[in-house]
Amino acid sequence: MYQHRNSAGGVIDLPANKVVCVGKNYQDHIDEMNKHFRSSDSAEPLLFMKPLNSLCALEQTVKIPDDKGACHNEVEVAILLQRRLCRCDDAKEAEQAIWGLGVALDLTLRDIQLKLKKAGHPWERSKSFDGSCPISSFAPKSQFQCLNNIDFSLEVNESIRQKGNTKDMLVGIVELLMKMSHAFTLDVGDIILTGTPSGVGPLLKGDTLRVKMAHHFDIQTQVIC
Ligand code: ZN
Repeated sequence: MYQHRNSAGGVIDLPANKVVCVGKNYQDHIDEMNKHFRSSDSAEPLLFMKPLNSLCALEQTVKIPDDKGACHNEVEVAILLQRRLCRCDDAKEAEQAIWGLGVALDLTLRDIQLKLKKAGHPWERSKSFDGSCPISSFAPKSQFQCLNNIDFSLEVNESIRQKGNTKDMLVGIVELLMKMSHAFTLDVGDIILTGTPSGVGPLLKGDTLRVKMAHHFDIQTQVIC
């Protein structure tokens, strides 16, 4: 069963809970997706969730469905919360709610998602399946000097596929937590995924992945079906 872990491999004493995600938080990814399906922009962040069963350890193999069309990579910075946030308007309070940071894949069944978007339906079938959120361990927030300048990347079969920096987020980490907390309460142990930069594409059985975040994480894993 999934448990939050620290960089040394120890269990973090916070419950595993839901994953709250934001879509369209990097302009270069919005541009690449508009080639497939242009949807109207809204002033508020696009939010969706992944359930507890989506979580699994990124360090182990990444299992993707083999009967549901293309499964795309979306590498994202992840935030682990140690405090509850409900209708929070205080940036300091939001920042203090962060236990630490990690890196995750928001696995997305893209063929299914495009059909759902066209029909105006919710995205859960494409985003919330079991194992759809492989995630690293977490490094404490105190190890990050600035939340708004964190490099992260994904290599597939030794070539770079996605490269991002949190400075390019349209809604930054602290502001995002506050906005999310006005849509629904964020609980202790919740994980927040902060959006993906451009470079999404299909993962295939046997692909080797290398996921990096600043000097904190450098994880190698493999895709299986
Ligand atoms: Zn995503």
